[in-house]
Amino acid sequence: MHRFEYHAPTSLDEAVALLKEHGDGTKLLAGGTDLLVHMKEGGLHPPRVVSLHAVAGLDGITLDESDGLSIGSAVSMDEIASNDAIRQRYAALAEGAGVVGSVQTRSMATIGGNVANAAPSADTTPPLAVFDATAQIVGSGGTREVPVIDLFEGPGSTVLAGDEVLTGFKLPTPPADTGSIYQRHTPRKIMDIAAVGVGVRLSLGGGNIGEARICLGAVAATIIRATEAEDALAGHPPSEELFAKAAELAQAASSPISDVRGSAEFRRHLVGVMTKRCLDIALERAQN
Ligand SMILES: Cc1cc2nc3c(=O)[nH]c(=O)nc-3n(C[C@H](O)[C@H](O)[C@H](O)COP(=O)(O)OP(=O)(O)OC[C@H]3O[C@@H](n4cnc5c(N)ncnc54)[C@H](O)[C@@H]3O)c2cc1C
Repeated sequence: MHRFEYHAPTSLDEAVALLKEHGDGTKLLAGGTDLLVHMKEGGLHPPRVVSLHAVAGLDGITLDESDGLSIGSAVSMDEIASNDAIRQRYAALAEGAGVVGSVQTRSMATIGGNVANAAPSADTTPPLAVFDATAQIVGSGGTREVPVIDLFEGPGSTVLAGDEVLTGFKLPTPPADTGSIYQRHTPRKIMDIAAVGVGVRLSLGGGNIGEARICLGAVAATIIRATEAEDALAGHPPSEELFAKAAELAQAASSPISDVRGSAEFRRHLVGVMTKRCLDIALERAQN
């Protein structure tokens, strides 16, 4: 590994000031499960690293009936996957966090790092998007909120400025009678990344689907919402035919590439199969 300056600020203000002072080449360090791999093996040589480990206020999970769920950016995958409130109310997010890497990876990896890393295959971003999550961001210009679905510009690229830190995520309280799920397909059973990831949320009302969210991972340059499929579902009673139609529309929304994890054709096929399956399971969960 190349030599680099290491900073360990103890406050957010100090971290932001360091980013502002030193410019774009400076990298933030959270769990390090992406960053250190890139620095050791991926040809990334930042001149300086700013650790978030001692920065207060980035941890914690709070659930409030009116405000919804708040998760600090430094919360680990393990904490999210094992949190009872998240498992019950935001099942897709617990499922996404629960499939990241290994036990060791999940104890180090943070949700902020997963999002900021901006991999199209990231396992927590489709679940965050189906719950209409917003990212909380602090920089030298102040604070701002960006919907998670709008954070990404392409693989490895976000709308975060060089002096901005993700501090956490807010997920509104889902309506009653909501079911959600995240599933992914990986060529290997474990320790692989998604060839396709599908997050679904269905919120029912009066026998119809009130609100539908379908977010796809690893089938475009960023995660994408299958909005035509969502619109086709909303306001209608759930049925086999409707779900099959929505799965077709989700397939049409995807634009996968061919790589070692599967051909574009195979991935598009999977989007249809997995979307239909996730809709069935989300409905069952919403009804129980
Ligand atoms: C063996 C292994 C298996 C893995 N399996 C999976 C998997 O199955 N699914 C999956 O999605 N990922 C997987 N990953 C990738 C990685 O574990 C996750 O993306 C993880 O959540 C990254 O979080 P981190 O805290 O380790 O981030 P870091 O490595 O510390 O940082 C990642 C990037 O985000 C930036 N960053 C970190 N925190 C912030 C912040 N608060 N604000 C702004 N920028 C920030 C860093 O500067 C860096 O560019 C795997 C990694 C390994 C090593």
